[in-house]
Amino acid sequence: MNHGLVFVRTDLADRPSIPVRADLVSDTSLATTLGFGPAKVSTVEHLLAALSGLGIDNLRMEIDGPEIPIMDGSAAPFAMRMSEAGIRLQGEPKRFLVIKKTVTVTDGDKYATFSPAKRFRIDCTIDFKHPLISDQRFTLEFSDRSFIREVARARTFGFLRDVDKLRSMGLARGGSLDNAVVVDDFSILNPEGLRFPDEFVRHKLLDALGDVALLGRPVIGALTVYKTGHALNQKLVAKVLSDPSNFEVVPARMRDVASHELELADLAPVLAPSAA
Ligand SMILES: [Zn+2]
Repeated sequence: MNHGLVFVRTDLADRPSIPVRADLVSDTSLATTLGFGPAKVSTVEHLLAALSGLGIDNLRMEIDGPEIPIMDGSAAPFAMRMSEAGIRLQGEPKRFLVIKKTVTVTDGDKYATFSPAKRFRIDCTIDFKHPLISDQRFTLEFSDRSFIREVARARTFGFLRDVDKLRSMGLARGGSLDNAVVVDDFSILNPEGLRFPDEFVRHKLLDALGDVALLGRPVIGALTVYKTGHALNQKLVAKVLSDPSNFEVVPARMRDVASHELELADLAPVLAPSAA
């Protein structure tokens, strides 16, 4: 079945489906939540990043509760299990969303932009007012291999003062050094240290990848995210989709090519007739 990415809440009556779609994002305050009414699924961003990073765009995901497990705070456990299970090329053509115009959203000095490009690329910059997390930039040209090697293992991070605050609000009760990098004013509290010297910006890139998965299709375009979070990334996704002239959906037979290895040049024969 060519249903795209769909969550199914197996613990609710009638087992409601929640498709991965930008218009079903209901909350982005701490994590990304999808759904309507009681049929919700939250903390989807790292799982979606893994799906996007591996080029999986057709999957039914059954879940027996309202929240995706945080695992180790990265996308690696999801990516690993899916690679182990095996990823199958299906008969239907893959439908790519090709960015045709530059689209930007801003919030003060923060911004997110999608521009036309030959491949899928993310350029991410962060600048927290913290000695360990200031001014990091990371750029990734996507292929399945680059995602697994460079980004999938980067963990979410938080500041000790915020963890204390969240606990007092009854949130982040499962949060610990096992599923996040935690920093105090000067140091990293995790005894094992960092997985990459710039793990923070790599994780923000991972988050952005999960957010743009809500476009509902693999993308060909260049995404620049500057000091953004889920809310601004989602706003960009909504703005891209709000005007059909911003993009074109192009079907392509994949043969044995993995999703993000495809270049715009490969799509040229498909794009040409509509451009004429
Ligand atoms: Zn994250």
